[in-house]
Amino acid sequence: MIATKNSSAQRSVDYPAKARALVAEMTLEEKALLLSGDGWWHTHPIDRLQIPALSISDGPHGLRKVEGGGLPTSVPATCFPTASALACSWDTELISEIGAALAEECQAHDVQVLLGPGVNMKRSPLAGRNFEYFSEDPVLAGKLAAAYIQGVQNQGVGTSLKHYAANNQEFERMVTSSNLDERTLHELYLTAFEIAVKEAQPWSVMAAYNPVNHVYATENSLLLRDILRTRWGFEGFVVSDWGAVHDGVAGVNAGLSLEMPGSGSYLRNKIIEAVRIGRLSPAKLDEAVVPLLTVILKATDHKRPGVAFDAGDHDALARRAAGESLVLLKNSGGLLPLDFRKTKTIALIGAFAKTPRYQGAGSSQVNPTRISTAYDELVKQADKHTVFCYAAGYTEEGTTTEDLIEEATQQAKAAEVAVVFAGLPNSYESEGFDRSSLEMPAAHNRLIAAVSVAQPNVAVVLMNGSAVTMPWTNKVRTILEAWLGGQAGGGAIADALTGRINPSGKLAETFPAQLEDTPPYPDFPGRNKEANYGEGICIGYRYYDTRKIAPLFPFGFGLSYTTFTFSGLRCNATAIKETEGVTVEVKVKNTGLVAGQEVVQLYVHEQRPEVVRPEKELKAFTKVALRVGEERTISFQLTKRDFAYYDAFRRDWIVNPGKFDILVGSSSRDLPLRQTIEVEVIKQDRAPLTRDSLLKEFKNHPKGKAFYPELAEAFGLGNPDEADMMVRAFLDDMPVYKVCAFSQGKFTEKRLEDILKQVQ
Ligand code: BGC
Repeated sequence: MIATKNSSAQRSVDYPAKARALVAEMTLEEKALLLSGDGWWHTHPIDRLQIPALSISDGPHGLRKVEGGGLPTSVPATCFPTASALACSWDTELISEIGAALAEECQAHDVQVLLGPGVNMKRSPLAGRNFEYFSEDPVLAGKLAAAYIQGVQNQGVGTSLKHYAANNQEFERMVTSSNLDERTLHELYLTAFEIAVKEAQPWSVMAAYNPVNHVYATENSLLLRDILRTRWGFEGFVVSDWGAVHDGVAGVNAGLSLEMPGSGSYLRNKIIEAVRIGRLSPAKLDEAVVPLLTVILKATDHKRPGVAFDAGDHDALARRAAGESLVLLKNSGGLLPLDFRKTKTIALIGAFAKTPRYQGAGSSQVNPTRISTAYDELVKQADKHTVFCYAAGYTEEGTTTEDLIEEATQQAKAAEVAVVFAGLPNSYESEGFDRSSLEMPAAHNRLIAAVSVAQPNVAVVLMNGSAVTMPWTNKVRTILEAWLGGQAGGGAIADALTGRINPSGKLAETFPAQLEDTPPYPDFPGRNKEANYGEGICIGYRYYDTRKIAPLFPFGFGLSYTTFTFSGLRCNATAIKETEGVTVEVKVKNTGLVAGQEVVQLYVHEQRPEVVRPEKELKAFTKVALRVGEERTISFQLTKRDFAYYDAFRRDWIVNPGKFDILVGSSSRDLPLRQTIEVEVIKQDRAPLTRDSLLKEFKNHPKGKAFYPELAEAFGLGNPDEADMMVRAFLDDMPVYKVCAFSQGKFTEKRLEDILKQVQ
């Protein structure tokens, strides 16, 4: 990887100070010029002040630098596996390495900001862009995004973390408001952004198309200013998604720095006018310009003109990454890896074997430097005596004919093993529209069913960007989820089929048994411009586990050609104060016959929550490589946040004192180890008592409890200690101000105010 020239000198440059000094010299017109792009992919240069243009390109799993006129074509670049694949590697180091390679390609093509990664949550498996996102879990997505950002930015190229926030459907994506409560927003839809911002400081964040609770993300000062900048300490600039600006002046007021693509003089004139009439203050305008200019200056200093990248090396990295992303979902009787000494005839069925689907359509579509196919790569790796036959089985559009099915079954029957390649064609998932069903094309399902009648040894290899249903699960011996594995995905599939690599991926999203089981069903996508997140804090495994719904394959699941055992779970304390945190150790051993990698997953379950909580939540994970017989001890550090929920009233993360189970294992549904720890909360920052507080809140409040008997008696229902349960419940849930009316004024407003003063 390239090293950054003069990196120590550059690190000591105070770019924000330089930017502020330059802003002081800029005219209103120049500032306004900078805040709207120059076309689709650049900012405006300002020659008078030697401010160069910033070049920006997609992202996320490869560089898409658009070139030439007409239909946009982009420079050849390495197409890495898409995010839904990469996430299944659960490997932060690998993702950082890919980040560095992406940055190198950006440097080679004079691109300063790469538009990625995408960390939106997979609220529904139907969402059209799920292939571009990591996970349904915010900790997994946040950690992987932080690794990606660090990988790119350590090479002097910026990233744009997207799409902020709650951008979870494609249907009418520009206008549909994501309506969700504050707790759900923070616990699920903001956490991945928060982790990435705090751990990796992306140079920019992209504000999404959609409104959040009816305020456009590009104009949402709660999101852009209060949360992103003030609470999380974001230092970069906010760019609009392409075409996401509505009222640009409102955007700048809320914390937006760059409109993309540029609107010529349209927004510029509005900004100038807004400053003149006092709708936009000069201070707010500067607040928008400074972070953008800071990045322009920093990026310019970090340019590496003349750098070239080795397409062969990057292809090899893409192949390794695709291999690490493969998830072995089933392998009965150890059908894989194929043994060429025993298996001499293999039928490769399905057009994806020769024309793979390896990435999704839309703004992330990369023009690959080369493409490998599973067919060619398998033939290369096989013994020269192995005979391969092939049948397409279906058309590019995902339809089939009697003849295609007949040909496939004949080939399968004549061979000893059939490997069927299937999944989702391009027309089934893409940016711009959501899927209408979880099913693969009927032709693909039919082909698998037909082949499994003709041949008992069937391995299915899937290429798709998001979860699918598999009505034929029990009819085949092996299922290998290969995702959209990028340009070298074919090679990686061959590597796994032949045992050159041992699959180690784990699902980063649940595969539901049927669409009707999914969290937002039937309320997805939101229609009539409203997407109501009625399922609240439970999406993905949080939902299936809490409701005890059996998925087809659970979150975190994935098999290997070897076996692992977990033992020795130990916490350094059985009782802690919330501020202390806890160290958790666990041993994992390779107990099988080949080397492999296991993902150790740690979840937390609260035993007696005071508020609704999911059954369990992922808090830590690590991937570990183990030789045959090797055992290693893994250590995790948990902090207060890992036990906390978001309290909307206090606008903070709160721990409810009590017992928490720490669960460790190899998937969300296979957690053999458990240890309980007691968390003590030192100072409970209670909500203050007010006129609207309930009587029971007085009873449970350190100062309020002294007044409970007096207040309860005044309601005129007798001594609450002697009352029956119904009366006590009636009293306990009574807002305290009602005491004046119930006592017919005998309990005065003045006495109530007096009590309220004393309990503060
Ligand atoms: C997409 C973004 C992308 C941008 C630029 C938008 O339509 O939502 O993800 O970065 O276009 O291509």
